[in-house]
Amino acid sequence: MAVEPLIFELAKPGRRGVRYPAPDVPETELPAELLRDDLAWPEVSEIDVIRHYTRLSQKNHAVDTGFYPLGSCTMKYNPKINEAVARLPGFAAIHPYQDESTVQGALELMWELQEMLGEISGFAEVALQPAAGAHGELTGVTIIRAWHESRGDTGRTKILVPDSAHGTNPATAIMAGYQVVTIPSDARGNCDLEAIRAAVGPDTAGLMITNPNTLGLWDEHIEEIVELVHAAGGLVYNDGANFNAILGIVRPGDLGIDVMHYNLHKTFSTPHGGGGPGSGPVGVREDLAAFLPGPRVRRVEEGDEEPRHELFQPERTIGRVHGFHGNFGMMVRAYTYIRMHGAEGLRRVSEDAVLNANYLRVRLQERYRPAFDRTCMHECVFSASRQKANGVKALDIAKRLLDFGIHPPTVYFPLLVPEAMLMEPTETESIETLDHFVDAMLQIADEAEQTPEVVTGAPHTTEYKRLDEVAANRTLNLRWQPPVAEPAPEREAVAAD
Ligand SMILES: *Cc1c(COP(=O)(O)O)cnc(C)c1O
Repeated sequence: MAVEPLIFELAKPGRRGVRYPAPDVPETELPAELLRDDLAWPEVSEIDVIRHYTRLSQKNHAVDTGFYPLGSCTMKYNPKINEAVARLPGFAAIHPYQDESTVQGALELMWELQEMLGEISGFAEVALQPAAGAHGELTGVTIIRAWHESRGDTGRTKILVPDSAHGTNPATAIMAGYQVVTIPSDARGNCDLEAIRAAVGPDTAGLMITNPNTLGLWDEHIEEIVELVHAAGGLVYNDGANFNAILGIVRPGDLGIDVMHYNLHKTFSTPHGGGGPGSGPVGVREDLAAFLPGPRVRRVEEGDEEPRHELFQPERTIGRVHGFHGNFGMMVRAYTYIRMHGAEGLRRVSEDAVLNANYLRVRLQERYRPAFDRTCMHECVFSASRQKANGVKALDIAKRLLDFGIHPPTVYFPLLVPEAMLMEPTETESIETLDHFVDAMLQIADEAEQTPEVVTGAPHTTEYKRLDEVAANRTLNLRWQPPVAEPAPEREAVAAD
């Protein structure tokens, strides 16, 4: 008889992880309408809980366990000093309803982070509230709408979005009440200038651009694009998800961009993935600052006194976009990261991120077809079109990489590259890790020619093999449900236990 591993369903009626001392106050009946009989709590001991969650955590691929070149996501190493600082009680154990006088350190950190992000990107003012990049986009485009409306300019109904954009960009424009006009890319992967020229007009509210774009390419016409949109009376939004490529090298504000979001969880090393908390602050040029969401933090200097920091609502604010001040723990981590690197260090981050991506580009281009024959920025796109001739698709290559302990690159995005593989190595990877990845990719290229079934049948070494991805998407189920509940034990017995 096969011995089954003890894995998931570990509950045993009556088993406990915690035991409370007998109450030293008289017992009281709880109101019956507040109690449910049908809750099937897993009844497990402490060691079972620890093993369960530790085992689950080890099933995940993580930046802390292996290379994670997931394009557009900037899966860089998250320095552990960020965690140490975020856990300081003065940051971790405070409450947003506390009196401002008791949280001056936290407010000062927020103020300094606003200032530093503004300095790094060339924007006058920054709001920290949005909880992710997509949330920052919605905030930014809502600010663009508020600005047009404040000028009585209500005929602008369209936002231009390049076809290489992340899906959140058109979704944001629609959510903010605009129609999307798609701008095609030209042969060099830039926004097609002629298409922009033809599209802009009195109905243009703005353009959302990602620069460098999701093809990993710097738009060579960014200044002309900004000019065209401004000349038509629109504003330019920069999706800052790819900021990791240009820190300390170019500032979007200096290019004439009007609004931008930052993904602290990408560029500034706060942990992400698995739906964890993100942070998507928004920066704007001076005359848009009055529309930012609040509360924001400002510094008050009076006479010779120590500067104070206080919360305030910008004059014409679009309102709150978060219950409180945003994901403060992420702000502490990003602040720590920026202070740790300093200005010179941040520039090195981008130089090394771009160098690593170009290293992959050059080493892989003999066997995989680069989508564009250009120096790339912090990520590069290949097409698996050569491999597809042998029946091996980008998805198969992604699955095969799992056998090497490597997280696959982003596949089938950007949408305009057939069989796309978007690789972003980040600056934190060593040459040995990059070479290991290249070796794996070259072996897979050989396999695709000689033994394609090895690739199309992958993964071979993981606990689960090919999943039914369509079913997983259509009937997504992320929640464990208890097995049909056994009759609840007598409540009295539980209380006495
Ligand atoms: C990640 C990403 C976003 C969305 O950011 P979230 O923080 O995931 O909401 C938007 N645009 C691009 C280009 C991205 O890579």
